Amino acid sequence: MLRTHYSSQITPQYDGKTVTVAGWVAKIRDIGKVKFLILRDKEGEVQIIAKKGDILDSLVDTITSLTRESVVSVTGKVIKNKDAPGGFEIVPEKINVLAKAEAPLPLETDPNIKSELDTRINFRYLDLRRKEVSAIFRIKDVVHRSFIKYLEAEGFILAHVPCVVSAATEGGTNLFPISYFENEAFLSQSPQLYKQMLMASGLDKVLIVTPVFRAEEHNTTRHLNESTQMDIEVAFVEDEQGALKYIEGAVNFIYKEVVKECKEQLKILGRTLDIPLVPFKQLTYTEALDVLKKDGINIKWGDDIPPEGERALCKNFNPLLVTKWPTDVRAFYSMPEPGNEKICRAYDLLIDGMEISSGAQRIHNYNILVSEMKRRKMNPKNFEFYLNAFKYGMPPHAGWSIGLERLTYIICGLKNIREAMLWPRDRTRLTP
Ligand code: ATP
Ligand code: MG
Repeated sequence: MLRTHYSSQITPQYDGKTVTVAGWVAKIRDIGKVKFLILRDKEGEVQIIAKKGDILDSLVDTITSLTRESVVSVTGKVIKNKDAPGGFEIVPEKINVLAKAEAPLPLETDPNIKSELDTRINFRYLDLRRKEVSAIFRIKDVVHRSFIKYLEAEGFILAHVPCVVSAATEGGTNLFPISYFENEAFLSQSPQLYKQMLMASGLDKVLIVTPVFRAEEHNTTRHLNESTQMDIEVAFVEDEQGALKYIEGAVNFIYKEVVKECKEQLKILGRTLDIPLVPFKQLTYTEALDVLKKDGINIKWGDDIPPEGERALCKNFNPLLVTKWPTDVRAFYSMPEPGNEKICRAYDLLIDGMEISSGAQRIHNYNILVSEMKRRKMNPKNFEFYLNAFKYGMPPHAGWSIGLERLTYIICGLKNIREAMLWPRDRTRLTP
């Protein structure tokens, strides 16, 4: 057997027992007659002690010849030692070198040495051997799972929709074209049209987690060209509040789960999380502009709220839901407020000074939807498959989308969203 125990499973009470541990060579310390091998596995580190004279010379030679980050399996006796990390060390009886690492390493794994993000991404597998990096992806995993867990308990069905599509969701130009046999197709920028069509199916509440692709040429610390969206759509709502209650619940649950499941990871990242309490503060767009004005930030009614505006708003309220946006800055499917069509039932959720989610109640009336598309100079012909779903019984519905990497970035307190993606795709990066 290559491994009987992880480092975390061994305690000083194992004194005298034989175990087999396996992992990477984190460090070799040579102090003359005694050599220490610090072995790292998924759970932590364990110290192997090799004293010349106490063990076979060949074992001492093996340790001396090891390079850092080589993969080894070590069988030996656990010896209680209060001076060793964890209160024990292992005296080897057998060392199996499973894979020797080349030296020098292209990326430093020593936690005290900082490396450029670009180099780290080039050698992500080495980068992930540092616990402050693997902590991010464990947290991302819990964010993703708890999103699904919460909504499943609320009666949502997890649905799967295509990533290869023929039409732009937002009618925009930020699409990656691909060749699809004799036709042109695109990588999907959002599951929007499909989740709306599902509202005409009787499923009522759906959730979708999917990669999305946006060919925006931005090169910011909060945008990726490939990212993961966590979406819901819910039917039979009276207004946008029918979907907002789930974003409050989901975000509150995600934070609670991260605090519960990722204590160790949050400690490694030096994070203390405040769990956002339900209900979240809501301001209409117009009220938000007033708050900003008092802070000396003037935004013309009808303009989008820029990043510095989002930061300033969260200094007053965190988290914050901004509702009732000007119709013209939101997507065509957002429902205009009946009687006041200049504003619509769209909203954004801001946390720690950044947008993590957008959504809206949607137009569910076929004629209104078509005329709204025409008003925006979109060609309804290109959306026939979608529009048809509004002809045969489409209930009122609303939904939203959270960016998984965006939320992980906020929760982990990262400097760059690329740190929350194993292999990010940005304006210049396509490998690895
Ligand atoms: P932003 O204004 O921050 O650029 P957006 O309004 O264009 O975002 P939406 O279409 O509302 O984005 O997408 C839903 C969510 O997906 C956003 O709230 C955000 O959390 C996330 N998101 C959007 N674009 C990106 C991107 N390029 N990279 C990573 N996450 C993104
Ligand atoms: Mg948005």
